[in-house]
Amino acid sequence: MNGKVRVAVFGDLLYDCFAWADHLPRVGETVTGFRNGFFAGGKGGNQAVAASRLGAETSMLGKVGPDAHGEFLRTNLIYNHVDDAGVIIDPQIPTGTCCVHIDRQGHNAIVVVPLANNSVSTADTEKMRPFIQSADVFLCQLQTNLDAVERCMGFARSVGARIILNPAPAKPGAEKFFALADFITPNETEAEFFSQTQRGKQPIMDWCRQASARLHELGAKRVLLTLGEQGSYYSGDEEEYLCPPFRVDAVDSTAAGDAFNAAFAIMAAGGAPVRDVMRFANAAGAVTASRHGSQPSLPSRLDVEALMATAAAPAPDKR
Ligand code: ADP
Repeated sequence: MNGKVRVAVFGDLLYDCFAWADHLPRVGETVTGFRNGFFAGGKGGNQAVAASRLGAETSMLGKVGPDAHGEFLRTNLIYNHVDDAGVIIDPQIPTGTCCVHIDRQGHNAIVVVPLANNSVSTADTEKMRPFIQSADVFLCQLQTNLDAVERCMGFARSVGARIILNPAPAKPGAEKFFALADFITPNETEAEFFSQTQRGKQPIMDWCRQASARLHELGAKRVLLTLGEQGSYYSGDEEEYLCPPFRVDAVDSTAAGDAFNAAFAIMAAGGAPVRDVMRFANAAGAVTASRHGSQPSLPSRLDVEALMATAAAPAPDKR
């Protein structure tokens, strides 16, 4: 290692198109909006950019089409110092897109069209294999075709790289990958889906125990639940821990989970104790939640350390 943790992220790359209007269009209606925005997105791309900003040597593994959107996404990776050599350009299929309509109240209607992200073939994953097998830690989600996720996890496993599976979005059948991962990192909705539990109004610790017990039964070795403004919970190696959140003025939690996963992956690869890793990851998620947007809100390592230092500082002397 040259001092930097090497992270390989396998996942989706999406061209995000946002349109803001007074109200969401009804069936057959054309609405005139007042703002738009075009951004690099996809959980995979977000997590790779987050890992790079947090100081890791990062490779992105994914797939785009031979179009301007794909070129935009690859340029964005390079701009963020992410190696894009493992991003396949398929001449036959367009880049995936995500179209988001948002009204004045913040309600949204979203259409994701995965396209290239859902057509990762065996030949493609063979091209990704060297990047996975030279990494310290492998991070993936479920926003690509699942057979490709399984193959990539297998490559990482065969060389003993640490594997973090962010099981998002929740998809039936993905439980079979839990046993391949060192850690799984569902958020509350995903944990409810896979564990078939409902948090409801029960105390947080009760539900965390109930859900994680079920996830362990499904094969997960170590479970890390992200709990939004309530922090995160860990269960594994006969230990459990509820890591309190950092208090921030939250304005937009988009991509908080992506920042958390990248931060957790980097620190876990370095072998730090899980409680320290969670604290760092909670801080990365909290900084992201305190800013607007997805990739623009992802923090640098300095941002995360600054929040941790502020929170750790003793209260001002009131004498
Ligand atoms: P996702 O974006 O996948 O739904 P979460 O909302 O659980 O994920 O957020 C991931 C992590 O980011 C949380 O575990 C927490 O540490 C941090 N986080 C998210 N929202 C807030 C918030 N409002 N205040 C403080 N920390 C937050």
